Amino acid sequence: MAVPKKRHSKSRTKKRRAMWKKMPAPGLVVCPRCHEMKMPHRMCPECGFYKERLVKEVK
Ligand SMILES: [Zn+2]
Repeated sequence: MAVPKKRHSKSRTKKRRAMWKKMPAPGLVVCPRCHEMKMPHRMCPECGFYKERLVKEVK
């Protein structure tokens, strides 16, 4: 099996990991109604809407 000839330097590993912080959290989308972050294909916990329809009253 192929094995890496050289291991990555510490700075190269750190540079790669630094990219993760710039990325948005996975599995979250912006609610088109209230612009809060919500889980995709689920009711928005902030405004209680899904597919432009009120699913649940939120105080
Ligand atoms: Zn919302």
